[in-house]
Amino acid sequence: MTIRSHAVRLLRFAQDVVFPYTCAACGVEGEVLCAACRSSITLSGSGECVFCGDASVGGATCDTCHGAHALDGLTAAAAYHNAVLRASIGRWKYHFQALLGEVLGGYVVRSLTPAFWSLMDRTNAIVIPIPLHPYRLRYRGFNQAEQLARAIGEAYALPVSCDILVRFRLHRSQAHKTHEKRLALKNPFKVLPSDILIGKTVVLVDDVATTGTTLDHAAAVLKQAGSACVWSVTLAKG
Ligand SMILES: [Zn+2]
Ligand SMILES: [Zn+2]
Repeated sequence: MTIRSHAVRLLRFAQDVVFPYTCAACGVEGEVLCAACRSSITLSGSGECVFCGDASVGGATCDTCHGAHALDGLTAAAAYHNAVLRASIGRWKYHFQALLGEVLGGYVVRSLTPAFWSLMDRTNAIVIPIPLHPYRLRYRGFNQAEQLARAIGEAYALPVSCDILVRFRLHRSQAHKTHEKRLALKNPFKVLPSDILIGKTVVLVDDVATTGTTLDHAAAVLKQAGSACVWSVTLAKG
């Protein structure tokens, strides 16, 4: 971590101490997310293939899409169209608030039900967050996916690895790109030389999933490195 990112975190911490917390969604004073706003975020439980939208158990990639994609499934805690959730993610991401991240991490942890774990070999699982490019990490000061990954690792007593999957290409915002253009992007990830992934179930964590392209790129390199299963868990799905 650079001196600059330390300074940014210190400044944000000082702001949190000097100014009282306000709810990220409605602005009421006292909490990072008030009780009324918390209760408006409902766990959705994915039931469809992220690539084609067909119904599937727990968000598993369907048989048709499996041939063309590395990702085995995607489970999202809630829907991104929830305005409270969107406001909370924005506040958390751009004005790093560790406490808000803890609240949001709680939704992800609670969405991983026994039915979710029955879809994979949990005894062999490792939790890996989608990394930020080092340039973005310096700018932002923290990786929001890493905070979620650590919450999952702690809640389910699973190992968390934040340094084996690396992002070495910086893509500009993909929001305006068509699905075809996103697919044509070169894979921005690589796995550092290691054999710790051989035969492992990877729980691949990110904050928001849209088309699944980023997660699929990461799943491809994780499988090349020997992972048996790569299942993604996100806070929201757009
Ligand atoms: Zn509120
Ligand atoms: Zn499908």
